[in-house]
Amino acid sequence: MIVLKFGGTSVANAQRIRDAARIVLDQPAPRVVVVSAAAGVTNALLEAARAAARADTERRAAAIARVHGIHAEILAGIANAQCRDEADIAIADLHAALDRDLEDITAAGELSDRFSDRVVATGEKCLSILMAATIRELGSEARPVFTDTVIATDDRHGAARPDRARTRENADRVIRPLLDAGVTVVATGFIGASAAGETTTLGRGGSDYSATLLGAALDAAEVQIWTDVPGVLSADPRTVPHALVVPEISYDEAQELAHFGAKVLHPRTIRPAVARDIPVRILSTFAPAEPGTVVTRETTSDRIKAITALRGLILLTLDVAELEDLAPAASAAFRVMHERGIEILTVSQSSSRRRMTYLIDAVGGGCPTLQAHLGEALQDSEASVSCEEHVAVLAAVGNGAASTASALSRMMAVLHRAGVKVMATHQQTSNVAMLAVVADDDVARAVNAVHDAFIRPVAERRARRQRRSELMAEAVRVG
Ligand code: ADP
Ligand code: ASP
Ligand code: MG
Repeated sequence: MIVLKFGGTSVANAQRIRDAARIVLDQPAPRVVVVSAAAGVTNALLEAARAAARADTERRAAAIARVHGIHAEILAGIANAQCRDEADIAIADLHAALDRDLEDITAAGELSDRFSDRVVATGEKCLSILMAATIRELGSEARPVFTDTVIATDDRHGAARPDRARTRENADRVIRPLLDAGVTVVATGFIGASAAGETTTLGRGGSDYSATLLGAALDAAEVQIWTDVPGVLSADPRTVPHALVVPEISYDEAQELAHFGAKVLHPRTIRPAVARDIPVRILSTFAPAEPGTVVTRETTSDRIKAITALRGLILLTLDVAELEDLAPAASAAFRVMHERGIEILTVSQSSSRRRMTYLIDAVGGGCPTLQAHLGEALQDSEASVSCEEHVAVLAAVGNGAASTASALSRMMAVLHRAGVKVMATHQQTSNVAMLAVVADDDVARAVNAVHDAFIRPVAERRARRQRRSELMAEAVRVG
């Protein structure tokens, strides 16, 4: 059994959905397809929900019209009247339920996370209906499955955590019989349900995570993430236009890349695959014959494979005068961040043992709010807190990243030559990444410089080898 997940751009319109459906039918059954909402739909639904909360009927109507327009274009592309009419009725029901939810939001005068999840889930639900209809039209039995009947989560709306054991039971009950009957299941990405039966979502970009969760629940042989790039690239192509495909990476490397900003994989995607040793392949719907990237337990080589960066972070520094003051101050700071749900990306302690630095996610209110919270918690200690916003972390990812003592100092030298000020560095004990904290504004320069130093030479060697073997083959042919 394989799982194929299609992202927003891969299901953006009727033509793309047909291309995606052909990719599905090229794979042997049993198959589970996981779909995102069409590109732009999740944002439009959120905009409609926020407008509804402000009773801004004009903006709400404009956003909803965009959603209807996208779904209508896809529907119109289904030529078979029966497939189209069935889908039309189901989509109209979902659009009507959406309108009722928006009315309820306006009546409440505010947008709760619970209602936000109900509203955005409409995008994935509509797409699963449209994709199933398209596959049926191409001659293969297919059924939409809304995963608020399968993926069991807690009630953290907007960032729900799945319960793998209950999800497995649900998948066996809801999906397995369909697969056994030869039906291609088209599941909604991104959504689950709490124990109370309320629809939840797994966080933005969460459909990748849905794919591996369902893959693990159904013991898939492989999970394929079909997207708009030909695999995991050596850097974000928007920052480094000449980035190359990385043919193979390990679970650890992929996890690190996703964690430090490579949007191609949702940060939580890899965990469910690791637990059951399922290979994850990243492939392009625009170039389906390309081999893409395969992510497995295996580590192929000890070198830097990709450079990534995460912007918009905060660097928090705690200084104490006496060694013994560090532990109580650090634990008070941890408590404050935990209580406020602030995600900590890295922590490091200076060798003087009088300073801790925390790299953390942006916080509403920024440094002033954070310093106020910490000031209260640290009022009995001698610690002083400094806080810097608009900070980014650059990660050079690859197994053995830091195994040679010179790698980190080489990276520092490269950044220094590029005129990038490094605020902090960090070497992962797992040895899979070297990190440098830089200003947001320096990210493009920093990523390009490190990419040029660590990855470009390898690519050029690879290209020269390829060219030599082509020339030799040509010589043999001519001779
Ligand atoms: P989907 O809608 O298919 O889930 P996303 O937009 O979420 O696609 O992720 C794919 C995008 O991730 C690419 O278009 C690319 O701009 C971005 N990206 C960032 N870093 C990387 C990387 N290292 N390799 C590939 N793509 C990356
Ligand atoms: N549609 C959702 C989003 O835009 C989930 C996803 O695309 O993976 O975040
Ligand atoms: Mg995505």
